[in-house]
This record gives sequence, C-alpha cells and structure tokens, in this order.
Amino acid sequence: MQGYNLRRYYDKQPDITKEKMEVNKSIFRENDIRGTYPEQLNEFTIGEIGKAIAIKCKKENIDSISVGRDGRLSGESLLDAFCESLVNSGINVTNIGMVTSPMLYFEAKINDTKSGIIITGSHNPKNHNGLKMVINDKPVSGIEVLSLIEDIKDEIVKKGTLQTKDIKEEYLNEVTESVSISNPSNYKVVIDSGNGAAGCIAPELFKRVGCEVIELFSEVDGNFPNHHPDPSKLENLQDLIESVLNNNADLGLAFDGDGDRVGLITNTGENIFPDKYMMMLSESILSKESGAIVFDVKCSNHLDELIVRNNGMPVMAPTGHFHIKKTIKENNALLGGEMSGHIFFNDKWYGFDDGPYSGARIIEALSEYPDGKSISDIMNTYPKSFSTPELNIDVTDENKFQIIKDFIDQNNLEGEENTIDGLRVNYVNGWGLIRASNTSPKLVLRFEGNSIEDMHYIQNEFLSELARISPDIVINLT
Ligand SMILES: [Zn+2]
Repeated sequence: MQGYNLRRYYDKQPDITKEKMEVNKSIFRENDIRGTYPEQLNEFTIGEIGKAIAIKCKKENIDSISVGRDGRLSGESLLDAFCESLVNSGINVTNIGMVTSPMLYFEAKINDTKSGIIITGSHNPKNHNGLKMVINDKPVSGIEVLSLIEDIKDEIVKKGTLQTKDIKEEYLNEVTESVSISNPSNYKVVIDSGNGAAGCIAPELFKRVGCEVIELFSEVDGNFPNHHPDPSKLENLQDLIESVLNNNADLGLAFDGDGDRVGLITNTGENIFPDKYMMMLSESILSKESGAIVFDVKCSNHLDELIVRNNGMPVMAPTGHFHIKKTIKENNALLGGEMSGHIFFNDKWYGFDDGPYSGARIIEALSEYPDGKSISDIMNTYPKSFSTPELNIDVTDENKFQIIKDFIDQNNLEGEENTIDGLRVNYVNGWGLIRASNTSPKLVLRFEGNSIEDMHYIQNEFLSELARISPDIVINLT
C-alpha cells in the first residue's frame, strides 16, 4: 500500500507564493488538462483545480472521489497537493496511488460515486503532466474545469476524509475473469512498458492470464531512460521488435506512459496499425453477438467493410476520447477504437480504453483460431492496402480550424465527402483525410490506396489543393 505523505507544497517551494501565481488558461483543453511542470501546471494550479472539482462534485451531489497518478517525476508532489485541496474543500478522497489511467477508470466504475481523476502526462515529454477526469461516470472537459475556477469562493468548509486503497488485486481478478484465452501457455509475449505506469501492472496481468511473458522496461521511471513511452512512433518500437524476433515470441505489445494505448508487433516483427488489429478484434466480437463498432476518421475503409461483412454496424466518429466514448454510448457499441491505439471494449468490459486489457484481448482473439495460426498469418488474410501513417503539417492553433474550413469550402476534389471531423474524401481506390489536431498546432493527414500509386495519387490531389487554397502554409510533412 502506498503511504500518503501530506507535504506542504509551499514549504517545499518557498519562492512560490500564491500572490505571484495565477492559473495558466492554455492548459485547459477539450478532452483533459495538460501542461508543463512546473511552469504551467504546478502544486498551486492543481490546488485551484481541486477547488473547481469540488464545486463540480457538489453540483452533482457527489461527496467522494478516487484519485491516482502515473509514474511521472512530478506525480507524487502534484497528487499530494491535489488531495489536500480536495479534502480542504470538503471532499472525501480515496488515494489509489501510482496506477495506469485504465486502473483509475476501473476504480471509477466500481466505486459508489463513479468518479475518479488521474494525474497523468500520458505519452508527452517527461516534464509534462495533466489530468484526466471522470465525474458521475461522465468524462469532464478541461474547459468546464476552467469555467468553474472562476466560481471559486475560498470559504471554510468541513474537511473531507482521506484514505488509501490498493486496487491491483481487484483489477487483476476482473481482467482474468473477463479474458478467456484457450491454451494461454502456448503464447510467448514480449511486454514493453517503456518505463511508464503500465510497468506496475502489465507483466503481472499477462502472467495471470497464463501467457509466457518476457518483460522490457517494467521499472517505472519518469526519466524514461530507454525510449519514450509512445507506441504510435516506430522509433519507440525498435527494442520490442528486436526482442520479439530474438526470442521467437508470438507477439509483442507496447503501452504508452499511462497505459491507455497499445501497440502491436507480430511474430515476424511487423508493426500493425490499430485499424488493422481492430479487424481481428471486430471479427472475434461479432462472431459472438451483433452490434455497432465505432472507429475514428483516421481508420481504413477496409475496417468498415469487414464490420459490414460480419453483420456488424460500422460507425465512424470524430477523433478524440470524448467523441469515441460518446459515440459508443449513443450506439451501445460493442467496441470502439482510434488509430492512436486507444481501444475501448464494451462487450464484456467497461467501455474505457485500457492498453494491457486490449493486449490480452488481442491474444484471446488469436487463440480462437483452431489451427494455431500466427498473428502474422491472420493479418495477411485482411485486404492489402497501402496507407501512410498519420502525417502532420505545422500551422498555428489560431489558424488551424480556418484552414480546414477553407479547404472544405473551396476544394475541387472529386469523391464522396464526409465532414464529421475535417474532410475525408472516399474514392473508388482509397481515401484521404485532412483535419485539425485537437491537441497541437498541426494539421493531421492520412491517405490510403489499393495500390501505392493510388495512395500517392490521392495524397498529391490533397496537397496540391491545400497549396492552392492556403498558399501561405509551408507544406512539410512530418
Ligand atoms: Zn495515454
């Protein structure tokens, strides 16, 4: 059990006084709160956020909340300050210590008030931190918290209580009840936690479901000394690929810093994009029950087609946590997923994104093939297409949405247009997407074709239209 150490943060940082500080508004985002520590998000700021959360809780008649943190260096001190603020604002706090985001979401599903907040910098650089929040079983937007900060009155209220709780066993028990892998000892899996918070749970989870586990970088270390915990970037998967090949493993799994995303490497060392492994997950789920499957606008048309072929209902959603969770609820979907690797199981799990759980479900789906097919063989059965990874063009937060609006209004692209998030154009031989990033000053693009020529053709069409419509942009794809 993690001890709680109530430290006075002003004592630790005598040069910081309340008078000198004010809350930096740029950290409050649509999906969450994110900023650099200590410049933008520090013990003072998180204290003010705690007071705002207490206002939100009181509005919703909620008197208690669970909190946790990922493995970042600033996590413990921020969590102490956050607990102190919540308790002083009259909220009863359960501190579940260092956990993955999914473990906190799990706690917020099983506790009485269905409320929890994790202090996490996710996959961002090591000096970043932030908050992901669920109150009354609903995600809370950073923008809403900012509006509540303006209502803070600083009145003296009866203090709440503080207790600690270790949820590891309860979480592992439910995961092992939910996942059923036939012949699990047949599967040798390499687990790369990237020194992120997943290290505290993922190796144990895969041992409990019965697999043979080879661990990489399980020690939680906020300096991320081996590689950055972001499996969407190929450069962060090199150690995993090497280990899978050297150990003749059946697959490799990598998680991001707070364990809510998963990356997959096949037995032959190939990195599989999430929209492709979602095909295997969709087939597995739809073979047992029919229903909707949600995916974001960055996903392949082949996923849509496969869901239809398996008598499911494909639902495309805008990119972002908020939108995917909302669309899953609206359609009572069985599964949701994003190209970034956030996968939400809602068939026999709680509908939140959970990297290690998703990895275990990938092995479960693999084990359903009676002839012991390898994951590489299975991936090769899906339609071959040629796609770019997510491509970015640097712009500014101020002009990114206007650029997209101009593109939608003025483009001469010939194809079927979809504008749920930026512009996606479907052609007979592929598709293209251009949208504004929710989280950074960038345009996000992705292209797919049935042949490499088709893919390049669609990409060239989009880029020449972008150059014509917004000639001031420097088109440098990264
Ligand atoms: Zn994450």
